[in-house]
Amino acid sequence: MSVIQSDLPYKENALEPHISKETLYYHYEKHHRGYVDKLNGFIKDTPYDALELEQIIGKARKAGDIKILNNALQAWNHGFLWQSMAPKGGNEPEGPIRQAIDKAFGDLERFKKEFREAALGQFGSGWAWLVQNRGGLKIVATGNAESPVGTEMTPLLTLDVWEHAYYLDYKNARNDYVDAFLNNLINWEFAASNLAGASDAQAA
Ligand code: MN
Repeated sequence: MSVIQSDLPYKENALEPHISKETLYYHYEKHHRGYVDKLNGFIKDTPYDALELEQIIGKARKAGDIKILNNALQAWNHGFLWQSMAPKGGNEPEGPIRQAIDKAFGDLERFKKEFREAALGQFGSGWAWLVQNRGGLKIVATGNAESPVGTEMTPLLTLDVWEHAYYLDYKNARNDYVDAFLNNLINWEFAASNLAGASDAQAA
């Protein structure tokens, strides 16, 4: 068994003009696929080969198998990234996810400000995340391949801040890329679908 690259849930030009077809082509077909292919090379004929991706991440974390862990995390993170964006995203969140945002951050603008700061404050390559932790929401940034998946935190949304995610379109202007994500691409329906115990969070 080998790990299968998760599908891109829209066409490569579907996020234009915010993310170009060229960027999405390289990002999905070259970078994401590269992580999956490398992972499959590393796990071939090892006990990892029988496991699902999230099980591979858990086992590699425990064992400290860094090459397998990094490529498995990047395989997972990118699958999660594609779903964190939508062609007509950037709408206002509604229902339990909106209530959880307002409770944690005060309002949507404050959430955007804090997410932006996390994404811009991540030095070098990494990811910015909206996560659910002990019922409440918070924003975290992770370096390189690191990810909240398989930890006590539940990832709700992510943004890739590696240069390969935006350099063709925005050059060094990570801030414009982050703003495009927050205002035009963010997929609140996906975040809502990842929210656990929404009724508990409301009651708390
Ligand atoms: Mn990437």
